[in-house]
Amino acid sequence: MLHNFNAGPSVLPPAVFQQASEAVLNYNNSGLSILEIGHRTPEFTAIMEEAASLVKELMQLSSDHEVLFLHGGASTQFMQVPMNLLDSKETAAYADTGVWSSKAIKEAQLFGKVDVVCTGKETNYQYIPKDFAVPNDARYFHITTNNTIFGTQWKKIPATSNVMVADMSSDIFSRMLDFSSFGLIYAGAQKNLGPAGVSLIIVNKNILGKTKRIIPTIMDYRHHIKEGSMLNTPPVFAVYVCLLTLRWLKEQGGIPEMEKRNEIKASLLYHAIDESNLFQTTVSKEDRSFMNVCFTLKDAALEKPFLEYAKNNGIIGIKGHRLSGGFRASLYNALPLESVQVLTGLMKSFEELSA
Ligand code: PMP
Repeated sequence: MLHNFNAGPSVLPPAVFQQASEAVLNYNNSGLSILEIGHRTPEFTAIMEEAASLVKELMQLSSDHEVLFLHGGASTQFMQVPMNLLDSKETAAYADTGVWSSKAIKEAQLFGKVDVVCTGKETNYQYIPKDFAVPNDARYFHITTNNTIFGTQWKKIPATSNVMVADMSSDIFSRMLDFSSFGLIYAGAQKNLGPAGVSLIIVNKNILGKTKRIIPTIMDYRHHIKEGSMLNTPPVFAVYVCLLTLRWLKEQGGIPEMEKRNEIKASLLYHAIDESNLFQTTVSKEDRSFMNVCFTLKDAALEKPFLEYAKNNGIIGIKGHRLSGGFRASLYNALPLESVQVLTGLMKSFEELSA
């Protein structure tokens, strides 16, 4: 059996793979593949509507929040957010907690003024900054709730009077938050939600339509809302797989159940690292991500042998990102506890073998 710790695209529930593959051959006994039905057919509009309504239900969103499934990955949102929300003379506040936040900052600077209110750069993003103030007049405050590359996570969402905007690409649906308190949430699907090729955007419609900028139609959230994410051809298959994952999520007990499981998985792995004489993590304890666990070997020379040992025992995708090195185990919703038990077992036996 393989244990898939990939950071994204990543593991999805086996039932989702099964249902998705059946739909490729014959969608709902229609005799047609899901890949060949029109997006304006009753079959597909039902998929889109159910997916959006499950997101609303699972996240307990207010009626002001709209749910969109759009192309372009989370990176497109780095520019689409400021294009829709920020006038050129206005300021948006950003927290710089890693590579993805830095990229979001760079794009926002193309549209208005950006106030980077805090940064963890000086420690290679090993912690989440705590002491900072967000100016009241900032049009919005952008955070990256989970930093996929460095393995840190905002455990508490900062309480500010600003409109909150969050990139939740790598921890969406993994823990319960007051999602309705956000002005805008976005996430690439390819971690906790579905395959690559679609992004989920949740936006409070009351924050839209305030800029004077002329926004190209395809970039304007209001047009996508009006057309129910079907302004143009949506990524049909990717949306369908998201729906399958959302159904699975609901059946399993929703976000609170995922949160419980994720805490158990993450605690098991962090405990194994803390107990070990060989492995270590430099991520600040209170900011440790429950989704992406980054760790190293105290003796870097053992890195290759451990990777080899893990690979020979069915472990996939634990090589760390090139910017942080070492290892990264991504523990997304669909990763079973058993995979973490196998990994921690191997860490222990590797330590014994190396003694
Ligand atoms: N934000 C975060 C937190 C991410 O982890 C990633 C991708 N790993 C992105 C944004 C970029 O996503 P995409 O590749 O979908 O543009």
